[in-house]
Amino acid sequence: MCGIVGYIGTRQASDLLVTGLKRLEYRGYDSAGVAVVNGSVSIRKKRGKVGELASALEASPVHGTLGIGHTRWATHGAPNDVNAHPHTAPNGRFARVHNGIIENYGAIRKRLIADGYTFHSDTDTEALVHLIDDVQRKTRLSLAEAVRQALTQVRGTYGIVVVSEDDPDMLIAARLGSPRILGLGEGENFVASDASPLIEHTRHVVYLNDGEMAVVRRDGYEVFSIEGAPVAKEVHELEWDLE
Ligand code: GLU
Repeated sequence: MCGIVGYIGTRQASDLLVTGLKRLEYRGYDSAGVAVVNGSVSIRKKRGKVGELASALEASPVHGTLGIGHTRWATHGAPNDVNAHPHTAPNGRFARVHNGIIENYGAIRKRLIADGYTFHSDTDTEALVHLIDDVQRKTRLSLAEAVRQALTQVRGTYGIVVVSEDDPDMLIAARLGSPRILGLGEGENFVASDASPLIEHTRHVVYLNDGEMAVVRRDGYEVFSIEGAPVAKEVHELEWDLE
């Protein structure tokens, strides 16, 4: 099932992301990566354990207070550095991580290649990254709205998180068939596949339901249905501890 963690706040994201990914290791995975936003989007990703990603980050650190991390369980394309997530839009402006399977990625990929897109990986995920870019380029919509519209065109399962250099105060998360939970802090917020990366930072969480997406900022969040209607969410208190 593999995992995702996202952070937006005032602390350095990369350490928090690596620790969060370690908490999700029990879910199984073959590669790990992070994207951190600081003016531009910096990516580090490696086949193998989160420890190898941590060594890569030590050798070549990334700084910034907004980021996403991913552990991949390859379904489309071999487990290697190139297929590891995050994947970026063609101009590198935004990055996205994904758990799940985009069933109609073949048709989307074919159409986008005909439209001039170049694919660098063998993943189904990259088709959705480029589709979001394509929707945004054609419609000039906000990234969150482009993500929403792109999601209405895909079949399959997804837990996704997107960050962009164009809006350094935004994480976009969406869920269909792959769990997603928001962790609410003071001037900082988290997104994760389950509560294990959140529990050392906050007890206040919001569970996204299937077909919902969230725009998360440092000082708040909004939840929408994939159809675009605002959704009022209840904040839950986590009662368990890491053990
Ligand atoms: N289907 C995607 C891939 O193969 C995501 C796999 C996952 O859930 O980690 O890259």
